[in-house]
Amino acid sequence: MQIEFLGSGGAIPTPRPGCTCRICTEARERGVPFSRGGPSVFVHGPDILIDTPEDIRQELNRSRVAHVPACLYSHWHPDHVAGLRIFESLNLDLWRWPHQHRCTDVYLPRQVAADFRRQRGYWEQLTYLQQLGVVRVTVLNDGDAPEFGDVRVRQLRLAEQYVYAFLFEGGGKRVLVAPDELWGWQPPAGLGTLDLAVLPMGIAEFDPFTGERRIDERHPVLKSEATFDQTLAIVRGLRARRAILTHIEEPDGLSYDDLARIEGRLRREGLDVSFAYDTLLVDV
Ligand SMILES: [Zn+2]
Ligand SMILES: [Zn+2]
Repeated sequence: MQIEFLGSGGAIPTPRPGCTCRICTEARERGVPFSRGGPSVFVHGPDILIDTPEDIRQELNRSRVAHVPACLYSHWHPDHVAGLRIFESLNLDLWRWPHQHRCTDVYLPRQVAADFRRQRGYWEQLTYLQQLGVVRVTVLNDGDAPEFGDVRVRQLRLAEQYVYAFLFEGGGKRVLVAPDELWGWQPPAGLGTLDLAVLPMGIAEFDPFTGERRIDERHPVLKSEATFDQTLAIVRGLRARRAILTHIEEPDGLSYDDLARIEGRLRREGLDVSFAYDTLLVDV
């Protein structure tokens, strides 16, 4: 398997329009790896796209991805879903008659499907795409583990019950991709050894260099989002050969170079943790 990070940003990708902070200015001037698109990953081998942020069209255009036979959605939050019209661009055979559209199999875990029916008209949007013939929607039950060639995909509900992580197993390798929302999660007993864990970085509650508090301790986000320190605790609890952290929010104020410094420090502490950047391709 190969994991391609199409977008390594979070709900607020980098640069943010109108923002003149050092992170956004550098990203605007220098592009990738300093800029970060919305959160999405492609797993080469089984050839599965995970999530479709608003930036997905540009992300796919610059990627090594030629065709998207399958897509999984992790949860309903707009930063992971709002680019779902991409299946028209990818698959619609507009002018030929009769049409010969391509079709992407879209897999919705059970709770994600339930949320799509209630949130933002996603269910109607997917139904429209299905009527066009560019997607085929399958709702998975918890416990279903679809196979794509020689790779099996298991679903893991996180502590935030509306969010799923996916475990890819095949060719003797095991890769966990958890796109977001690790709050309160503890790796389940029996998860086993992972060759790679892809996790959201979490919120920089404290400045990683000065230790200074960056988020007011009364801020409600600290009751719903895992912090960077909590994420590192999860990494330590996983039996993962390496971890790559993504979903890096512009408001956390950390540049590509800052993250490289943190990476070096974690390595010296014996933790094989690195930070994703857009276009990063990892062999597993
Ligand atoms: Zn997100
Ligand atoms: Zn900025």
